[in-house]
Amino acid sequence: MKRIALFPGSFDPLTMGHLDTIERGAQLFDELIVGVFVNTSKKSLFSGEERLALVKESVAHIENVRVITQARKLTVEVAEDLGAKFLLRGIRSIKDYEYEKEIALMNKHLDSQLESVFLLASPKYSHVSSSILKEIIIFDGDVKDYLPKPVYEALEKKREQIEK
Ligand code: ADP
Repeated sequence: MKRIALFPGSFDPLTMGHLDTIERGAQLFDELIVGVFVNTSKKSLFSGEERLALVKESVAHIENVRVITQARKLTVEVAEDLGAKFLLRGIRSIKDYEYEKEIALMNKHLDSQLESVFLLASPKYSHVSSSILKEIIIFDGDVKDYLPKPVYEALEKKREQIEK
């Protein structure tokens, strides 16, 4: 049977850290599905549609990765619909560990068949988060090194529109 994993996140925006986890995760499974979801507790920079398009463009070079979006549904239910038996998440720090542990245990409660799998963030990206990048972006700081090319270009376009 095909080993399918779902990597859920808000990806607002997708960072090089996310992309690194996706590239490494893709090697562990037959298929990796990136789920671009809404995080109700976070203010968004890009719309759901924009994020979906940017993630698709940024992972186009990885053969066994596809990207989906889903509104208003539990992650465990999305995984079941997709036939995914694994959830992939990244861990940068002890803070992420505590947060991810709560989510993973709750997901286990909701669906005992679903296994969460964690990849440690690569050291070069372990200080990178969408939230911090957003703070820097607001003040026009340089975040080029931490964004996949399509995301950086979309951001530049957004800046030009704001300046007009
Ligand atoms: P969420 O809003 O669900 O936390 P995010 O888009 O912020 O979604 O993150 C999705 C997943 O990617 C989380 O498991 C997060 O820990 C992981 N992640 C975020 N940034 C990095 C990074 N720099 N390196 C590795 N994993 C990361």
